[in-house]
Amino acid sequence: MEKVKCPICDTLIDDNPYDTVCPVCEWTYTGAECVYEENEKDDFNLISRAEAKANYKNGLTKYKKPIKK
Ligand SMILES: [Zn+2]
Repeated sequence: MEKVKCPICDTLIDDNPYDTVCPVCEWTYTGAECVYEENEKDDFNLISRAEAKANYKNGLTKYKKPIKK
């Protein structure tokens, strides 16, 4: 399985669109991130990358749960 960087937190994840959930930030990798604007809500993750990145900076996952270190 090829690896790609999580578009939110740069963790290496499997390049398996719609099946790979980042173990760190819980972003579902769609492989279609480039289709959406940074602050546009993703139809699959239901939040924007900008929002998810802001959560990550604050130590929270996509679901606003604390990230385990
Ligand atoms: Zn991630």
